[in-house]
Amino acid sequence: IKRIGVLTSGGDAPGMNAAIRGVVRAALSQGLEVVGIYDGYQGLCEDRMEQLDRYSVSDVINRGGTFLGSVRYPEFRDPAVREVAIENLRRRNIDALVVIGGDGSYMGAKLLTERGFPCIGLPGTIDNDVAGTDYTIGFFTALGTVVEAIDRLRDTSSSHQRISIVEVMGRHCGDLTLAAAIAGGCEFIVLPEIEFDRDELVKEIMAGIGKGKKHAIVAITEHICDIDELARYIQEKTHRDTRATVLGHIQRGGSPVPYDRILASRMGAYAIDLLLEGHGGRCVGIQNEKMVHHDIIDAIENMKRPFKSDWLKTAKELF
Ligand code: ATP
Repeated sequence: IKRIGVLTSGGDAPGMNAAIRGVVRAALSQGLEVVGIYDGYQGLCEDRMEQLDRYSVSDVINRGGTFLGSVRYPEFRDPAVREVAIENLRRRNIDALVVIGGDGSYMGAKLLTERGFPCIGLPGTIDNDVAGTDYTIGFFTALGTVVEAIDRLRDTSSSHQRISIVEVMGRHCGDLTLAAAIAGGCEFIVLPEIEFDRDELVKEIMAGIGKGKKHAIVAITEHICDIDELARYIQEKTHRDTRATVLGHIQRGGSPVPYDRILASRMGAYAIDLLLEGHGGRCVGIQNEKMVHHDIIDAIENMKRPFKSDWLKTAKELF
């Protein structure tokens, strides 16, 4: 291979820029050319791309978001649309593609690979919901942001003896909530992996109040329930002022923490090694501190992300 493309897709995550930089600089060091594709699969289909040099990725390692842009482009599910993408890649003499995104983006990469165009996937999402890796690029930065928000809620909650419910991102994965709850010392945790019974939660909160706790912070993953309604219910049952806070998109922003920059740089460089070794259709991960790669199809279809049950056990012991 002589020329590769790189794009970011799906929800943005801090560290995506560092990953693009890793891909570009490693590729150039190995004598490859790199084309940056704007706005994910949409830019690929609309042929919006340009050649990158080492200065194209100067001053981006510390920046959140992605300078290439990232969009959701459901049209990419259509095989005819994907043919346009492949034509654009071939016309520009691009031999392989690095896709930085979540599992949805991996699906697109898998379909291109099945059509004969080699792709490597890098896990870029704050949700930590991608199979084949212990951590995704962006997770630890988002974790820091969530914990900082919880620390602030704790100050006001304990001053007013209030119950705080804080909704954390993660889609259908509770890792960000669970990790933030441990680091933020939250008393109660509601996760998509565990069946939720609000009366059970009320009982636990009442037990905490009985023990003399001044505040109660409940960390809950998004999409489980309407947290304003949950707050009203808890207030009605406990007679304690209860407030709901949806952290929302602030969790996606900010300068990546050093761990995410290192992870992104390592993964970017590793993707180039894989392509030069002739691999395609692989996704990159970190497992037990080592760079690993898996078949992208196998990862999507067969690999489950193990639930951190030992983390939850610890969290509960420390309530
Ligand atoms: P995050 O979870 O962080 O939001 P993601 O990569 O999972 O990231 P998605 O919106 O699910 O985000 O997917 C990103 C893009 O990947 C989609 O907008 C679409 O262009 C492409 N994509 C997703 N699923 C498929 C699919 N089944 N077939 C082809 N392309 C897909």
